[in-house]
Amino acid sequence: MPTEARVVVVPQQQDQPLEVIDVTLPAPGPHQVVVRQFASGICHSQLHTIHNPRQAPALLGHESTGEVLEVGESVTDLTPGDTVMVTWVPKDQAQARRQGGITRLELPDGRTATSINVFTWATHTIADEMYVVKVPDDIDRETDSIIGCAVITGAGAVLHTANVQSGDSVAIIGVGGVGLSAVAAAAHLGANPVIAVDLDDEKLDFAKSFGATHGVNAAEVDPVVAIRALTTISEQFDILRQPVAGVDYAFDCIGHSATMRQISEVIRGGEFGQRKGGTAVLVGVPQTPIELDSRQMFMGERSYVCSLGGSCTPGEDLPRFIDWHRQGILDLDSLVTQRYSIDDIGRAVEDLENGRIAGRSILVFD
Ligand SMILES: [Zn+2]
Repeated sequence: MPTEARVVVVPQQQDQPLEVIDVTLPAPGPHQVVVRQFASGICHSQLHTIHNPRQAPALLGHESTGEVLEVGESVTDLTPGDTVMVTWVPKDQAQARRQGGITRLELPDGRTATSINVFTWATHTIADEMYVVKVPDDIDRETDSIIGCAVITGAGAVLHTANVQSGDSVAIIGVGGVGLSAVAAAAHLGANPVIAVDLDDEKLDFAKSFGATHGVNAAEVDPVVAIRALTTISEQFDILRQPVAGVDYAFDCIGHSATMRQISEVIRGGEFGQRKGGTAVLVGVPQTPIELDSRQMFMGERSYVCSLGGSCTPGEDLPRFIDWHRQGILDLDSLVTQRYSIDDIGRAVEDLENGRIAGRSILVFD
């Protein structure tokens, strides 16, 4: 059965305003699911899609909450009426090993819009079942919508990619929706200190309410110097017999060239002969290549790793983070700082671009 939907479309031509268009979603293919959506997060990475050249009009959004309306004939673990989340990472191994496909959607004016696997800036969406996870009916329909990208990316980087342990020292650069999720996860796992780095004292204070123990304003001080001063261990020495200084784990939740380098510079060197050095974790989508000081990395036995979607398996991790929200470990009610209707998507993107979003903003559908 076709479903009427209202979707956000990024025109193919650069620098044109976003469109909100009424379309008819097709009946689902064998592995597809039609979802009526409650809310969708507005992710910073979408700005890159909006500003980069494209071959066709684009559909955006990759985290949401909703309800299943219809499923394809091969879908076995979802049924109409199920409460679900849409995410952009395949939910389990069996689904990940099916090829699936890039979504294409015919627009009423004859154009074909495409998305990278899913689109959630829409009242209704059609997605491959691999990206649709059944969740409990009593989720928070609005604030839980940011679990599918912001939370898995930030909290997952800390929990899975880095596997932070109690007592580890952590620095998190960039404390928007992803960074705040990382801060909350680090605090929950017992990391200490948890040092938040951003360019604005208000954002740093906000990060402290999520569990950051220190805030470093990189607009005022050199974060590398400040973090090393906070974390010097006077009785441990590197190969040059200098005291070990720096954090065990540094997370870059931005992906700019400066922050990608900073995480390699704020992790500690190894205690020579005793234990290896710290780990830099790239979480934000990188926009440029960077050069690292390979000699410094080598001498300190430091590591540089990347975290895509927080190394998460949504089938297990979405329920985990819903539970973290319920238990108060992850305060999503504070993290979601703005709400918009779909017709306000232009203003929503403008606010995001101009740094007016302290945590994460969402679209709420009727
Ligand atoms: Zn995202």
